[in-house]
Amino acid sequence: PYVLTEKNFFLYQEVTYPPEERGLQFGDGVYEVARIYQGKYFLLQEHIDRLYRSAEAIRLAVPFEKEELIDKLEQLREMNDVNEDAIVYLQVTRGSFPRTHAFPVENRPNLYAYIREMPRKLREIENGVRAILTRDVRWEYCYIKSLNLLPNVLAKQEATERGAFEAIFHRDGKITEGSSSNIFLVKGGKVYTHPATERILNGITRTKVKQFCDSLHIPFVEEAFSIEDIAKADEMFLTSTTSSIIPIIQVEEQLIAGGKPGEVTRKLQAAYEEAAGLAVKN
Ligand code: PLP
Repeated sequence: PYVLTEKNFFLYQEVTYPPEERGLQFGDGVYEVARIYQGKYFLLQEHIDRLYRSAEAIRLAVPFEKEELIDKLEQLREMNDVNEDAIVYLQVTRGSFPRTHAFPVENRPNLYAYIREMPRKLREIENGVRAILTRDVRWEYCYIKSLNLLPNVLAKQEATERGAFEAIFHRDGKITEGSSSNIFLVKGGKVYTHPATERILNGITRTKVKQFCDSLHIPFVEEAFSIEDIAKADEMFLTSTTSSIIPIIQVEEQLIAGGKPGEVTRKLQAAYEEAAGLAVKN
């Protein structure tokens, strides 16, 4: 497979970095993951816009102009002859320099992007998943999609070891988001989720769900809900680029809606399929 870098297209094995790369040593960089459905990018512009926002937040210059980057990513998709469901991963780091914390004087960022096949999580989308709760120990820059993912990695590992699909972060008794997803609760026909503050990553899928709610006349309330609210939830679901919309049917020992995906979740899933061009055509 081919990989795009700030210099050119290379074969996957050809892309290597020196030990003193700031992404490796400091996590000094930002990234994006965008969906490809049946060989076509989904919401790529939104992901690219967020990449530039993340980069700007850490005072990092992306090596390409936006339009140029999008062109190159289209080229990458063609070169790899991608026709199935996949993801594109791209990251920008501050480059390779002798190790010192402060920024290098020279502006020489590294970028790479590759595509990897990734089927939809159809079983989870259909049946729902279990989640655990874990303390949100992260910093105040969660709105930046940065490479510093150790808290998220540890949380997801805990979920995996406990047989759950996702770890849900809570801070001061309130749910913030998942280790790699946004979290939603449905109560009395309204959809609740943490506001897009510096404490969460404002998901591209989250933004889509907000739009779907608007068109379906479902009130979308950007208000954090508490751990106690979970016991009283009518439905819960999570969203992310790789997962799309997945029902949460159990949190710790608490079954949600008797352990079955709910009606509002189903409506939003249908809206997503439609938007992504995945709806079954008869
Ligand atoms: N929150 C975190 C911490 C994430 O890593 C992700 C991405 O996977 C999301 C939320 C969901 O964002 P998106 O819908 O843009 O994939």
